[in-house]
Amino acid sequence: MKTILVVLDRLSNQVAQHTMGYLHAECAQGNGHYYRLTCELPSLSRPLYGCILTGVTPVRSGIINNGVNRLSRERSVFHYARAAGLTTAAAYHWVSELYNRTPFVAARDRHTDAPELPIQYGHFYSNDSYPDSHLFEDAESLRLRHDPHFRLIHPMNIDDAGHKSSLSSPQYRNRARIADGLLSLWMPRWLAEGYQVIVTADHGMNDHRSHGGILPEETRVPRFVFGAAFSLQPDLLPQQTDLCGTLCELLGVPHDKPLCRGPLAELRG
Ligand SMILES: [Zn+2]
Repeated sequence: MKTILVVLDRLSNQVAQHTMGYLHAECAQGNGHYYRLTCELPSLSRPLYGCILTGVTPVRSGIINNGVNRLSRERSVFHYARAAGLTTAAAYHWVSELYNRTPFVAARDRHTDAPELPIQYGHFYSNDSYPDSHLFEDAESLRLRHDPHFRLIHPMNIDDAGHKSSLSSPQYRNRARIADGLLSLWMPRWLAEGYQVIVTADHGMNDHRSHGGILPEETRVPRFVFGAAFSLQPDLLPQQTDLCGTLCELLGVPHDKPLCRGPLAELRG
């Protein structure tokens, strides 16, 4: 099944719980479910992109801080999808550095149309204030042109607001509300067309405008799931390390990653 993963960078669970009115409304209608989970450590972006996309913890992968800008040595959901002949698309330059080419060279990599690479199609942006609204439009243009089986949509404006304002600030919380509004523009048509959609975050943040440690507000993140493939069972404890395997199961491609079977309806019972 075609699958979309939305990573809302730095969206702390408590803010997701309070601000994502559209996502919670879809859940209340029985179209999805909201889970919370504790991210792996350290609660930093690039290490956890690696964890989400490969199922391997930062200590094991060696992608242990944001400055490690080599290619990942782990197989990602992009690799499994490509090995099965599926089409992939993504955004954000650190993801290009992890799985396509590093260092990121904007003139070469900003607009990627390279069927031979793990991420075949992308509008890889590098400025964290690049408007989320444009990012969703970029992602939709990739969908119209390439019809990818797996698409990663990775907005950075919540993270950007978190750099400038604290966890409890209106600026940070309102950025989450804006992201929820953007999802309400695009997600209904994705669901109507039969996509499976997961919305999560890499890590949260604290009241010091940072993250990286073990505080609950830094490590608790949401995972919303939408689509017919999900069991919507309420009593599951998803892990960040099971997301790569779950994505591969949704895509129907062979993989060797950990998997939490409960979330998937077809595997129930
Ligand atoms: Zn991050």
